Amino acid sequence: EVVNTNDYLDMIVNDFQLSLDSESIKIYKNITVNKEISIDKFYFTTAILNILENAVKYGKEGLEIHISAKIKHNFTISIKDNGIGIPKKQQPFLFDKFYRVGNKEVHNVKGLGLGLYYTHQIIKAHKGNIFVESEENVGSTFTIKIPLK
Ligand code: ATP
Ligand code: MG
Repeated sequence: EVVNTNDYLDMIVNDFQLSLDSESIKIYKNITVNKEISIDKFYFTTAILNILENAVKYGKEGLEIHISAKIKHNFTISIKDNGIGIPKKQQPFLFDKFYRVGNKEVHNVKGLGLGLYYTHQIIKAHKGNIFVESEENVGSTFTIKIPLK
């Protein structure tokens, strides 16, 4: 299904913002792309929402989420939070089925450890890649890249 990158991301981010019951979460958008791309809209949206939901679930007081998107050789979307972060040692396992980080901040939050597993599967089905950069107590950035053709 062909979507306009700008309209599509605007729609996801607006819907997500409306679904939050906290008004203290700040969401910033920097989308400098306006192009038609082909995605499976239902699945791709699920992938993005899993990342946004995690940013909220593993966020802290004063949560800010920055969403940016650009197109060069790929369509690149970055979602950055200033939440609890993920220890370096656990980062390689984040996309494994049922994986959750074993610290107490995470155990206080419900989850199955499936969100990022599905997200990774969906991005792979789009012939893309997903990466994480994260630092404990600083925050995390998830970056998705999908080829334009
Ligand atoms: P589910 O998504 O199935 O409800 P979940 O959120 O635990 O459960 P994933 O979304 O796959 O599972 O995330 C895996 C683990 O990665 C989480 O349990 C958490 O430890 C860590 N994690 C994911 N996103 C973040 C984030 N933005 N900040 C800090 N930790 C994160
Ligand atoms: Mg999750």
